[in-house]
Amino acid sequence: LASLEVQPFPTVLEFSTGKTGGGHVLVAAGPCGVESREQTLRAARYVKAHGAGMLRGGAFKPRTSPYAFQGLGVEGLKILAEARKETGLPVVTEVLSPEQVELVAEYADAFQIGARNAQNFPLLQAVGEARKPVLLKRGMSMTLEEFLMSAEYILSRGNMQVILVERGIRTFEKATRFTLDVSAVPVLKSWTHLPVWVDPSHPAGKREWVIPLALAGLAAGANGLIVETHPEPEKALSDAAQQLHEHEFAELMAKVRRLVAAL
Ligand code: PEP
Ligand code: MN
Repeated sequence: LASLEVQPFPTVLEFSTGKTGGGHVLVAAGPCGVESREQTLRAARYVKAHGAGMLRGGAFKPRTSPYAFQGLGVEGLKILAEARKETGLPVVTEVLSPEQVELVAEYADAFQIGARNAQNFPLLQAVGEARKPVLLKRGMSMTLEEFLMSAEYILSRGNMQVILVERGIRTFEKATRFTLDVSAVPVLKSWTHLPVWVDPSHPAGKREWVIPLALAGLAAGANGLIVETHPEPEKALSDAAQQLHEHEFAELMAKVRRLVAAL
């Protein structure tokens, strides 16, 4: 169902703030995790002011260590809903299990499926039953064929609103957190009509590399970005090293506008 042979024109998804797919580029931005009302509202206000079309923020965090910050849960969802109400930005947040789908759908405009859950087939089927867009992250050890098969689990349940997100894969390179597979963008776009986005934050692992990776993704043809930014990144409870300061996010958005206009 994802194939360009089945649908020979790009899928364009429409949000209240803009579109993604075809020639349309949308940027989702916000903190890695929802940590407090103040932190999330501050981030929501400035990402909107600098031109983001969507707010991201994890209420449920899939942490590698069970002892690390796990997110605020339902309280986090309520904070995201408040941020949407104030800014008008649609909200995307991660859903970790099939049982959570209904709850997250009450608060969010789009589901995020994390890299660690990219082959959690019951979860993919559960969001396939929902009628909201899904940002599906590529698993860190997934081939592109496997990635598309995960998308098929969602599409085959009737939810055609799937965005594929390249977020870096495991390679032998240790300088970056993951290796952003820029090739995934043109390859996926030659196979599928679905929008393809890039997450430059998790592969970079370090904020100074986020802007170049984001621009590389867009130059390769990505239809959107999902970027982490935090009002006080040094104090972030997760992914502190890679979250952009506000001024860096503003710089990114200015460059994104220039690049997109030139493409
Ligand atoms: C995130 O977006 O904060 C996240 C956990 O991403 P990923 O699933 O790509 O690691
Ligand atoms: Mn993160």
